[in-house]
Amino acid sequence: MPKIVLYRNRCIGCSICYEQQPELWRLSKKDGKATLLKSTQKKNVFILSVPENIIEQTRIIAEACPVKIIKIYE
Ligand code: SF4
Repeated sequence: MPKIVLYRNRCIGCSICYEQQPELWRLSKKDGKATLLKSTQKKNVFILSVPENIIEQTRIIAEACPVKIIKIYE
């Protein structure tokens, strides 16, 4: 399964990810940054494996993210 990797430190809280794919993303009430739901955390990097049918939408979001901190690894 492909993996979504979020390098959260540089998130500017623009909310594109949440608006486009609310089943995977939230904006934290605490610091306003994106949260990748059900992901595992290594320091400030968040990782989540998702099925192919979900990753297509995430690819669009990764392109749209203004600070390019969403990466997809096959
Ligand atoms: S699209 Fe990028 S900058 Fe915007 S909230 Fe999501 S992760 Fe943060």
